[in-house]
Amino acid sequence: MSDGERAILQMYAVSEASLAPCINDLKEADERVAEARRKAEEELARVVKRRKKRTCVSCRNDDEQYFEEDDARGQVTCTRCGTCVVDSAVNDTEWVRQ
Ligand SMILES: [Zn+2]
Repeated sequence: MSDGERAILQMYAVSEASLAPCINDLKEADERVAEARRKAEEELARVVKRRKKRTCVSCRNDDEQYFEEDDARGQVTCTRCGTCVVDSAVNDTEWVRQ
């Protein structure tokens, strides 16, 4: 705490100890903001990564709203033309052999 800050505290008859809870609240708020920012950046990075990856091989659609995800089967389907854009390597191999 600087001399200037101490002078202000003395002027208003506020002790450093009485401010401690407020300072703690501020620290906690800072941590929450940092955490929220980190999550937002992660989410943004995930969205950007997805967008870069997907282009429909049939209709060249790269608009995210026309892709439908099936996480359980690892598939992404283009709802514009019905083509399965991303399939698992195992399924691709089986399809060719049949
Ligand atoms: Zn398509």
